[in-house]
Amino acid sequence: MKYIVTAKIIYLSFNPKKTCGAIGIDGGVVRATGSFEDVVRNMGSEVEVKTYQDQVIMPGFIDAHMHLDDFGKYISIIDLRGMTSIEEMKAKISCIAKDGGWILGHGWDQDLFSESRWPTRDDLDMVQNIRPVFMSRVDLHSAVMNSAAIKEMGLEEEFAGDEDLVRDSTGSVTGVVKERVFGYADDWIKIHMPDEQWEEMLQKAEREANKAGVTSVGFMSCSIRQYAILSHLKLKRGLSLRIHAYISSDEFPSLEYSSGDEFLRISGVKAFSDGSLGSRTALLSFPYMDNPENFGEARESNDSIYGSGKLAEGKRMDIGTHAIGDKALDNVLSVYEKLGKEHRIEHASLVRSDQFERIKNCKAVLVVQPHFTITDFWTLNRIGEGKVGMAYPFNTMLKNKIPIALSTDCPVENINPWETVYAAVTRGSHEGIPLGLLSGEERISTEQALEAYTQGSALALRNPEIGSLLEGNMADFIVIDRDPLAAPDDELQHINVVGTWVGGKAVWQL
Ligand SMILES: [Zn+2]
Repeated sequence: MKYIVTAKIIYLSFNPKKTCGAIGIDGGVVRATGSFEDVVRNMGSEVEVKTYQDQVIMPGFIDAHMHLDDFGKYISIIDLRGMTSIEEMKAKISCIAKDGGWILGHGWDQDLFSESRWPTRDDLDMVQNIRPVFMSRVDLHSAVMNSAAIKEMGLEEEFAGDEDLVRDSTGSVTGVVKERVFGYADDWIKIHMPDEQWEEMLQKAEREANKAGVTSVGFMSCSIRQYAILSHLKLKRGLSLRIHAYISSDEFPSLEYSSGDEFLRISGVKAFSDGSLGSRTALLSFPYMDNPENFGEARESNDSIYGSGKLAEGKRMDIGTHAIGDKALDNVLSVYEKLGKEHRIEHASLVRSDQFERIKNCKAVLVVQPHFTITDFWTLNRIGEGKVGMAYPFNTMLKNKIPIALSTDCPVENINPWETVYAAVTRGSHEGIPLGLLSGEERISTEQALEAYTQGSALALRNPEIGSLLEGNMADFIVIDRDPLAAPDDELQHINVVGTWVGGKAVWQL
């Protein structure tokens, strides 16, 4: 199918900034750009014309670092947060079909329940006694399960006498599991959930991403099983999101080479060099301000990261290494300096001024999550006000000519790219967040944020066919209700996506 698409403004790319009035699409690829008359002349006959008279078109967003499986699970399960009674929880479950796989929910808190007690398996059995039910408590340290779930996991045999499998005064299990048993059950579900259920969740994630204006993603820490499920889905009905998978480093050595195609490919391996600031496990070169004995923890050794990187290079792939603390970044840089090609660094949340030169020299792409500047407003408590310049220094990265890619780490942050653009441009200064107020010079412009979220992310995924609508590139674009470059910064998160096209096809319309 051949199309000519016109709009009030069409942004072909943000760097250099190129606009036009019409694009011609054939075979899913942009074939012509220019004025409507020029494009008509180039496209010949039998062309369908689509007109978005009052709207703006720009390249689709590329979320360079997200977790498609966790996102799919997150949006598929029952939301129990803020629920005020066990009866309400039961009512929610009773609305769900009686046949199918696991029923999952998250977020209940017995302190909010009017019944003033913990929920039990009897409560759940009353509304669902066939499908297994697993409802995690808000803190993710305990859960309540129905009898079918306890039986299917064999918990009574596996954990006989274990106090984390809670029993009542008569010795029978109540359905509540804590700590160790909770961890076991949570993993069990992820591993045993049938492929069909994962398929459903992944499709849901794909649809939600399209709806938000995302046309390509980097699926981080993808397991070989999830990749196989996605391959099956692609064969069955095609994909509407371009997925670039980065396989977990523990599984990567057993990966058989697969070249993939324009919709689904393995792009590399994901490694971890440290933990997180939230749990004070990010590896720092200085002690935590709010825990002075602690410098954080290294996860994979430099040797192991180097091994994964070499293996990736042998397959013509990349390595993306998680590094949140500045000391972890030192470690990753010393590994990347020994590797032969350019690779990715995930997060790079804390960067010292002496590190920019090294990052630039090894040509790493920094895959950052601007919304952390708002969500993780407590970062200064960890590092101290004197070190505010180290935190999320996006503008200094760009000034040092270091390429950055934007992302959400979804479901850690919302998939909505406009929230991330808003955060990159404002850093929470409208919310009074110190990271924005104290280091306002690290804000970047809307144009820079959009470039990083399209062309920058395409670079991180090493896919030159996406990220701009220049002739020869994939026709992946979004239709939005106003011009982002003319919008005031406090309205960026309210821009609406009214249509999403992937490979020259409308995959979502408002
Ligand atoms: Zn992540």
